[in-house]
Amino acid sequence: MSEPGGIGNGGDGAPEGESLSVIFRRLIANYGPITIQHYFGESNARYYTAKDPLGSEGDFVTAPEISQMFGELIGLWLADMWIRAGKPEPVHYVELGPGRGTLARDALRVMARYGLTPQVHFVEGSAALKAVQLEAVPHARWHGDLDSIPHHGALLVVGNEFLDALPIRQFARMAEGWRERMVGLADNGAEDGQGFLPIAGEKPMDLAVPVELREAPEGTIVETCPPATGIVYELAGRLNAQGGCALLIDYGHAHTRTGSTLQAVRAHRKVDPFVNPGEADLTAHVDFEALSRAVLSREGKWLGTVTQGHFLRALGIEARTAALAAKAPAHIVSLETARDRLIEEGQMGALFKVMGIAAPQWPDGAGF
Ligand code: SAH
Repeated sequence: MSEPGGIGNGGDGAPEGESLSVIFRRLIANYGPITIQHYFGESNARYYTAKDPLGSEGDFVTAPEISQMFGELIGLWLADMWIRAGKPEPVHYVELGPGRGTLARDALRVMARYGLTPQVHFVEGSAALKAVQLEAVPHARWHGDLDSIPHHGALLVVGNEFLDALPIRQFARMAEGWRERMVGLADNGAEDGQGFLPIAGEKPMDLAVPVELREAPEGTIVETCPPATGIVYELAGRLNAQGGCALLIDYGHAHTRTGSTLQAVRAHRKVDPFVNPGEADLTAHVDFEALSRAVLSREGKWLGTVTQGHFLRALGIEARTAALAAKAPAHIVSLETARDRLIEEGQMGALFKVMGIAAPQWPDGAGF
């Protein structure tokens, strides 16, 4: 799932250790502006390959790192689906972008209690994170994309905060029609890390804009995420063929919206995405409606898209918090704080969505 034709990943003949800013600067100076998708894809390939960005010491904190309850409830959901589907074997647990492997470890522990012990497959692009994942789940197998995941056996697929890291395209409605948003040089200064700027491309791009948005007024920005749509389309086809289900969890909107959601996060703060590419996490909100259309276009079974708060409450996070608190009364406050972070509206409960997909012959999922 890494971007093809990339620069800056060792394949471009660039001197070792050169910053991505310098590489982009040279590229743009020689060949003209690059797409946002190119800039975003190269930036995150560089960003994730080098380091573990997760946790309080890193750049951002994700739900499985907040509480074990997150992974446990996902494990419970998968076990429930598998049991009601008739306990098919062989069965594979597939996680997209597993970070530190925390979600997988928590989910697999719960699944084992129900007799579900799948083979474990991680789709991961980062060498630094693979090393961390190996510690958490030593028996996992690693893959660069979905193609090498076994084509026989049911698939139980999870991706948390994976799709938001995939590169988007942006289109802007100008007086003369739709244009792709590109990244150019703001000036001709050579100062490292300075001076990238979004600018409108020259070519007409009307046909690349989803048809229902084409009449939007001048000034509108529309985002698409071709790699996310492609992965979900592929996933729906694999579930149809092999059986199984998938949960994709991320921040984003249940219904397509316009406007730029491109963001860069570094040390828990928003920073300018057009400064120091490769040194902050670039993200964009996930358009779950576009993804549900990809599932339906493949004749897959879309279970729905609900808020994370709704989903975790439906799976019993309140009871799970109480049970853990009863075992460890000293931790009641931290348990309740973690629960609230995951489910309260002003925290992760409303912005984060959970989308479910299943094979047509599989049951409807709990919580949708
Ligand atoms: N799911 C984890 C980590 C989220 S961060 C958690 O919730 O804590 C995003 C994850 O996706 C990281 O593991 C990152 O290395 C991986 N990733 C990002 N872009 C990728 C790509 N193009 N191909 C494969 N993995 C990618």
